[in-house]
Amino acid sequence: MKTAIGVDLGGSHVTAAVVDENGKILGSHEQDIEEHGVDVVLKATGDMIDAALHDRCADGVVGIGIGSPGNIDLRSGTIRYSPNFQWENVPLGGRLRDRFKEPIYVGNDARCAALGEYTYGSGRGTRNFVLLTLGTGIGGGIVADGDLVLGTAAGAGEIGHHQIRARDGFVCNCGKIGCFEAQASGTGLIRHALAVRDSFPRSTLLERKPEKLSSKAIRKAAQAGDRHALTAWRNFCGDLAIGVSNVIAFVNPQVIALGGGVSTAGDFMLDSIRTRVDELTTMVPKRETHVVVAQLGNDAGPIGAATMAMRGGFKTPLT
Ligand SMILES: [Zn+2]
Repeated sequence: MKTAIGVDLGGSHVTAAVVDENGKILGSHEQDIEEHGVDVVLKATGDMIDAALHDRCADGVVGIGIGSPGNIDLRSGTIRYSPNFQWENVPLGGRLRDRFKEPIYVGNDARCAALGEYTYGSGRGTRNFVLLTLGTGIGGGIVADGDLVLGTAAGAGEIGHHQIRARDGFVCNCGKIGCFEAQASGTGLIRHALAVRDSFPRSTLLERKPEKLSSKAIRKAAQAGDRHALTAWRNFCGDLAIGVSNVIAFVNPQVIALGGGVSTAGDFMLDSIRTRVDELTTMVPKRETHVVVAQLGNDAGPIGAATMAMRGGFKTPLT
């Protein structure tokens, strides 16, 4: 059976997986990275690919796909810029081609995850699909009429950076005010909790230092009925609903899948946004887009990167 190596360059680790043509992970190798210097990340990436290639299950490897943060020149595999890694014009594809004989494909990590979910997860069987990953930021990928949308300079799908609160929102890492990512990512949930803390002086969430507050702790406290957490959760979900309804207006997909840490709240999250999404869906028929939780979790990245390699790059028909 054909296999491909799918690599996910995360903020804190590099994962390389052997994936078969049914989207199944046959073996996986992971290394932590403590800093994002080009040579450090390249060495860890090369070592993990080596480990995957030597895996017993790595028969018939047709290519190596790398999902990297940032905007990427898909032809050369050069990272034009990545704010997360503080990279500019890093020839990732070129450097890896010097080391490996297998074909190398480099694509944005969120687009890879969307491709993985579309092919093997929550988007299977649809033609119009959007993945939104609610993590430290918001990553996204759009499949329209069976085609992964890349845009003129591979920038399509940067849904996290459309502004939803340009006047009164939080400052985004990109410098703009009130981006969807600033308001409705895991980090956004923390910001919402801190923004209303003065109204809840006896909140249990404030027993820990602000920098120790996690989106998971807030979500759990909200589910347990804590008033401070519930207020933050409602504000967060209000902003999430704005972004989701905007995506419905832009793309009118059959399915929007929400992934990332916050999405582990499952129905608690979906129930919290459903009514507001319906209210904000005006010129598109209501309730035609199913908002669901993504299915592949952290595996979406490596599976999608391997799928990209298996197809010879993003721009082949996805069927
Ligand atoms: Zn932004």
